[in-house]
Amino acid sequence: MATKSMIIIGAGLAGLSTGCYAQMNGYRSHIFEHHTVPGGVAACWKRKGYLIDGGIHFLMGHRPGQPIYDLYCELGIAQANRFLDMTLYGRFIDEAGGRSVEITQDLDRLAHDLKALSPDDSQAIDELIAGARAMQDLDMSKTGMASPPELMGPLGQLKQMWGIRRALRYFAGKYARSAADYAQGLRDPWLRQVIENLFLPEVPVWFILMLLGLLAKRQMELIEGGCLNFVLPIERRYKDLGGQVTYKATVEEILVENDRAVGVRLADGSRHRADIVVSAADGYSTIFKMLGGRYVDKKIENRYKNWKLIRPMVMVSFGVAREFPGEPWLSFITLERPFTVGSQTIDGLMLRLFNYSPRFAPPGKTVVQVAFETEWDFWNELRKDRPRYDAEKERVAAEVLERLEAHYPGLSSQVEMTDVATPYTTWRYTRNHRGAYMGWLPTPEVITTRMKRTLPGLANFYMAGQWVLPGGGVPPCLYSGRHVVQILCHQDGKPFLTSVP
Ligand SMILES: Cc1cc2nc3c(=O)[nH]c(=O)nc-3n(C[C@H](O)[C@H](O)[C@H](O)COP(=O)(O)OP(=O)(O)OC[C@H]3O[C@@H](n4cnc5c(N)ncnc54)[C@H](O)[C@@H]3O)c2cc1C
Repeated sequence: MATKSMIIIGAGLAGLSTGCYAQMNGYRSHIFEHHTVPGGVAACWKRKGYLIDGGIHFLMGHRPGQPIYDLYCELGIAQANRFLDMTLYGRFIDEAGGRSVEITQDLDRLAHDLKALSPDDSQAIDELIAGARAMQDLDMSKTGMASPPELMGPLGQLKQMWGIRRALRYFAGKYARSAADYAQGLRDPWLRQVIENLFLPEVPVWFILMLLGLLAKRQMELIEGGCLNFVLPIERRYKDLGGQVTYKATVEEILVENDRAVGVRLADGSRHRADIVVSAADGYSTIFKMLGGRYVDKKIENRYKNWKLIRPMVMVSFGVAREFPGEPWLSFITLERPFTVGSQTIDGLMLRLFNYSPRFAPPGKTVVQVAFETEWDFWNELRKDRPRYDAEKERVAAEVLERLEAHYPGLSSQVEMTDVATPYTTWRYTRNHRGAYMGWLPTPEVITTRMKRTLPGLANFYMAGQWVLPGGGVPPCLYSGRHVVQILCHQDGKPFLTSVP
């Protein structure tokens, strides 16, 4: 059989993964990427001697023996990265109440500290800790992300249920409700906030239990070199396998003949043909722009009309001539003095200190990063007036710095670099719809929806990435590229390979 050619749109994690598995399995692939570098939302950039990591916070499943670890090995990630065990998920600070609590990997200590915070919620806290313990041995690949829905028959689903049988009850009933909904039953208002904001208020409780369980099992880690270090080895592996990638190449149209994808047209007008086209780019622009909305059914229409997106973020990074020994790498601060951005009141900040590795700043210095949720429309309108957009970024950075000063006196005078990224920045560099950096908002309903990697009525076309795996995340996106090639091998009647024969 002649080797089939494949065009992949996007060199984010999903596109690179698709490319690697395509090359391993004898497809000749070429990635076209909009940006000048690989990684998509897993992005790092340099400013005045500092390295800003604007992507991946933590990973899961980096230890040998876990299928996710095997995935990292297949893609050349495990060999090229140093992962640092997370012993602390983060610290929550309530400025007005003068309280704080650390979410540690020691579940006994966590139970004790949460009960000290709110003795009246002891029963609920015991329940949550029991759930986290039940999740400790969960093999995450058994939660459905390891195989494409197209290839999972009833037997596959049974196997999946069997794989998670010890924690099965925590995927149903009250644990399948959103964290926000569940937290309503807690007596202490601040404990409510802590539970809601452990990830996002909309995620199901089981997702939070899973995080706490993996943390306790030391299966959560930070990337010592930042997320670009995570991405570059995959790009290297792809090229070593013979893959081709072109940067600054934005796909405007997916070429279709007789309901078969046959290639792409780039923004520079050039046309490129292939036997197979895979989009690992933003879902909305793929379906409604590059394909003109011609290959949708009711389900897809409903999703793009009614499902909520991850709320976009403003990310303010400071390079400061200061060290933060012993300080947690992540803190969630409930502000005593909120501030306004657009029509929203910002009453909480996520603070990330890159004090765990010397890779981000010169000796004696640190990158301090603050993120908060914001509105797409506000920033998208503002950016049409560049001076006002820049002035607003400056104002926001000043507001943030003033709030940080209360925690780290003298910080303002130590700032050497300031960088503000808005939802428009996310769109500009990654094209994710309305700045939704992780795609769909992972509500209990959405996160459990299994989406096909194909579109109705269109042959030779596949999708990978966070827009077909609700909730996104590193392992799911990497798996999604693998899925596409698994489906292709299945259709072509050949075994799926995870290395070069
Ligand atoms: C701040 C932040 C923190 C995160 N933290 C974590 C975490 O702790 N743990 C975790 O597991 N996950 C985390 N994630 C999520 C995870 O990084 C993403 O879900 C994942 O990287 C998405 O990969 P992707 O390939 O699907 O999409 P993307 O990264 O969006 O890649 C799509 C690529 O397609 C390109 N593209 C788009 N349109 C076109 C076009 N028309 N032509 C050519 N190319 C195009 C884009 O430029 C981009 O490179 C985080 C994300 C962010 C932003």
